[in-house]
Amino acid sequence: MISGVRLVVLGKQGAGKGTQCVRLSHHYVVPHVSTGDMLRSEVKSRSPLGQRAHSLMEQGELIPDEMVMEMVGARLSERDTTGRGFVLDGCPRTTVQAESLDAIVQPFGLDIVINLQVPTNLVMKRLASRRVCVDCGANYSTAAPPLVNWTCDVCGGEVVQRDDDTEEVIERRLNLYEEETAPLLDWYKARDLLAEINGTGSPDAVTRRVVGAIDTLRRKMKGDGA
Ligand code: ADP
Repeated sequence: MISGVRLVVLGKQGAGKGTQCVRLSHHYVVPHVSTGDMLRSEVKSRSPLGQRAHSLMEQGELIPDEMVMEMVGARLSERDTTGRGFVLDGCPRTTVQAESLDAIVQPFGLDIVINLQVPTNLVMKRLASRRVCVDCGANYSTAAPPLVNWTCDVCGGEVVQRDDDTEEVIERRLNLYEEETAPLLDWYKARDLLAEINGTGSPDAVTRRVVGAIDTLRRKMKGDGA
């Protein structure tokens, strides 16, 4: 049986985090914990958190650290994630969140942090053509739409353009990524947790690179007697 994993995936908007995280969660048989998906579902159910998050998300702003980390802390203390692990997508986005996550995942810590590298001109193109299922979050594009009439192939939900995938909001989200999230690459590098992965090419090729990096790390840890 394959071992679980305690994995964080970083990368700009449109780098393919969502697609890769779904694949990785199937491969390692661990939950895909996406803060974006969790927040969108809070908005949909009009919970108190959703009501506070809604307009910030529409404008491409970040949700305050303590609100997000309370939600993440609760999710990562459920039995499925404390048991086999998780693929964490969309968090941390700030150094404060990284510090808080560090405390949440003790005593085991993270196994590895993947950074999916994709040039900005390519992510802009991907985001402009991205379409998502409102119910299950499956990703499509104008070049690769669902089989039938913008109805999700997976769950039958409606496939639409995300409210925050407009040009202006995309620009704000990418700027915030550079300001707030990119510094985390050095933060994780200093802790010897970072693996930089080329995120261009087919989804299969990217998944092979990520799984290869995790397997190499595991072999190394076994060799070290860990
Ligand atoms: P993207 O990374 O493509 O912008 P996500 O689906 O990961 O999309 O997140 C959508 C929005 O949810 C973000 O723009 C932000 O408003 C909010 N959000 C998600 N995760 C976090 C987080 N860790 N901290 C603060 N805000 C977050």
